[in-house]
Amino acid sequence: MSVNNEKLQLALEKLKSIYGYHSFRNGQRQIIKQILDGTDTIGIMPTGGGKSLCYQIPALILDGLTLVISPLISLMKDQVDALTELNVPATYLNSSLSAKEEHERVQQIKQGFYKLVYVAPERLEQYQFQQLINQLPLSLVAIDEAHCMSQWGHDFRPSYLSISSWLEHLNQKPVVLALTATATKQVCKDLQQFLGIDEDYVITTGFERANLTFQVKKGLDKKRYLDSFLKSKRKESGVIYASTRKEVEQIYAHLRRDGIEVAAYHGGMSEEDRTRSQEAFIHDEVKIIVATNAFGMGIDKSNVRFVIHYNIPRTIEAYYQEAGRAGRDGEESECILLFSSQDVRTQAFLIEQSDRNADRQEMEYKKLQQMTAFSHTERCLQQYILLYFGDATNKTCGKCSNCLQTGEKVNKTREAQMVFSTVKRVRERFGKTIIAQVLVGSSSQKIKQSQLTNVSTYGLLKDWTQKDVAEFIDILTAEEYLLPAGTTYPTLQLTEKALNVLLGQAEVFVTETQTLKEPEEQDD
Ligand code: ADP
Repeated sequence: MSVNNEKLQLALEKLKSIYGYHSFRNGQRQIIKQILDGTDTIGIMPTGGGKSLCYQIPALILDGLTLVISPLISLMKDQVDALTELNVPATYLNSSLSAKEEHERVQQIKQGFYKLVYVAPERLEQYQFQQLINQLPLSLVAIDEAHCMSQWGHDFRPSYLSISSWLEHLNQKPVVLALTATATKQVCKDLQQFLGIDEDYVITTGFERANLTFQVKKGLDKKRYLDSFLKSKRKESGVIYASTRKEVEQIYAHLRRDGIEVAAYHGGMSEEDRTRSQEAFIHDEVKIIVATNAFGMGIDKSNVRFVIHYNIPRTIEAYYQEAGRAGRDGEESECILLFSSQDVRTQAFLIEQSDRNADRQEMEYKKLQQMTAFSHTERCLQQYILLYFGDATNKTCGKCSNCLQTGEKVNKTREAQMVFSTVKRVRERFGKTIIAQVLVGSSSQKIKQSQLTNVSTYGLLKDWTQKDVAEFIDILTAEEYLLPAGTTYPTLQLTEKALNVLLGQAEVFVTETQTLKEPEEQDD
């Protein structure tokens, strides 16, 4: 039977009276309706889209208890604190509690004190917890960050794998809601399969964040850029993400020396220091925080006006999630990626050094290559991300650094053919650096050793610098003419698109930038 309007009306009243909001956001209404209808649901909404309300409001309407499975202890605490402030009866069970506290909470849960209980997935496997749950009237199980269930997700957690069998073995049948911001088609399929949810009950609001402006900046002195950027934004809140603890420390020290007030946050700091930094940032005591990706999950600060990635993240999922922490309040905000190819090599090295199995490493390289391609694409950056997540769209944002690129589109078919025929002639056995060296006619050791001076395209782009050819190859890779295969130093393969260009059936246009100026203008 379909949920009656009364229940939905009640949901709207709760939204107004408890949260003070006037209307549901895109997706929220439909998800809540399905939950109240008793339908298992997958909800995919971008970061900041308002996922928490999708289970919090039904939790207040449904008769029994709502169990929220959440990956991080700090996240649970923040959510429970926020709910307590709103007078919503919520608590959590996790390893941060003493035995006595835990015992007390369990007693309160048994007595029906709470409507929401947060736990980490590991807890589901504990016998005592299973016994507890089987005694309680369980109405809803909400799985937060559900992409952690899929091996194809960017943040797979083995403990999430046990959720589906745990659900099957319950002595009751609660409604299940899986929520995530970062599900590619493949991840979504996995979730559907694990939870037995039909496609009709997957609610995707689309991934677009219309209030975000994306920019990729290359070849900059990053520290100087930060200085001048931050000086122009003195009153605004922002996050600067760096990929290592060391880099965070260095940027932090540099900005402090420059008299800019910042906080730092990374996994190597004591919990006390991290909490202090986080609180200072959330309460606007400092406007800027420099952090590794350890910072941010579950942080609900609405007025973050910019997110700068000082180093390239490893995946588009991670990038979009981190960048998406800007502009949760819907106001215009900036997301800036400072690109350098050295950072890509560092990430590739970290993947290589990890103890992940070969398949997993292969997948991580592929994701890093897709992230690198994002940095080199000429397409609208927002559109590129949407296409990555499977939102087919022709719409461009009109405001990202690519949409605003004023350089003219120039025909580079001939040069592209030179690149492709070099790749072909070396039988797709070499990567970007060697291909570029062949084209500029380098006499490096490797070129001589591999007898590549004999390749017929050797020296055809001798008026270009090797760096420019390498950048041109990056663009051709981002536009999917070339396919990188393999790991730290991938070899290049031709795609069908490139073959069409070689056959003279298609042309290649790229935006005229400093790098790709005609050779005679290069020395200016
Ligand atoms: P997510 O978990 O999807 O990243 P949250 O649930 O933390 O997002 O919500 C992001 C912000 O949007 C929060 O500040 C939340 O209070 C606010 N929000 C959620 N739903 C609404 C709504 N219907 N109207 C206005 N603000 C909302």
